[in-house]
Amino acid sequence: MGWVKGEVRELTRWTERLFSLRVDAEVEPFKAGQYNRLRLFIGEEWVARPYSYVNPPDVRPLEFHLVTVPEGPLTSRLIHMEPGDEVELMPRSTGLFTLDQLPDARDLWLLATGTGLGPFLSMLGSEEPWRRFENIRLVHSVRHGAELSYQDRIREYAQGAPGRFHYQPLVTRESLEGIPQKRISVALQDGQLEALCGLGIDAVHSQVMICGNPDMVRDTQAILKGRGMQRNRRGHPGQITVENYW
Ligand code: NAP
Repeated sequence: MGWVKGEVRELTRWTERLFSLRVDAEVEPFKAGQYNRLRLFIGEEWVARPYSYVNPPDVRPLEFHLVTVPEGPLTSRLIHMEPGDEVELMPRSTGLFTLDQLPDARDLWLLATGTGLGPFLSMLGSEEPWRRFENIRLVHSVRHGAELSYQDRIREYAQGAPGRFHYQPLVTRESLEGIPQKRISVALQDGQLEALCGLGIDAVHSQVMICGNPDMVRDTQAILKGRGMQRNRRGHPGQITVENYW
């Protein structure tokens, strides 16, 4: 399998363990929501992991949002990369967590925890969601306020679509003024999420994409299924599309 060389352009540190990496590399065209792989030669072997693009398909450099995983050999090295350092990528990207897998609907809900925000930023930077959905809601749940990454970019998207877009941060392990201290699943269950977003979620009007912590994906999905929504599968259109991040 061929790999291509990438050159690190920039590393942004959001917190001690949360960062974004911008990389110049020649890769084939991809869709928002897809992922590539980053690999480094560590010790005596190549170590590769999948990471979703944060940059929209027509924007360069390539960008990835990462969190260091305890004992993770790759992220613990990637977080120390500097401009000019080399990392390898796949020429071709993969993944079905893309908007073209979704049936049309009035409303699009994007529910993320942690670095699961990344693919949604890529989508929001493309024209497809704005062309296909009337209302878009982006929900981002993190443990601490400092992990609410990409505020500037989200503000730009909001300003580009007045009245159609709402961003709802949730911070679960810190009390911050104006931000609910509640998990996505809990806020969905008790109705607060929809109240905050000024929009209801139902099987007729909503398409819901969920990305991040696998436990959050499971719990949130179960609540939506309890409301009569189904997984969106090829040949069996539903309302829920998910990506487990690990
Ligand atoms: P996280 O534990 O995923 O928490 C992010 C948000 O998700 C928090 O608001 C958290 O709420 C919420 N959450 C967790 N479980 C939930 C559930 N069942 N239902 C609803 N919400 C839930 O932490 P993170 O800081 O984003 O991710 C860091 C850790 O994730 C890493 O240390 C690593 O272990 C793992 N990770 C692994 C990989 C990998 O490739 N192996 C990649 C990325 C991340 P609470 O604060 O209430 O828990």
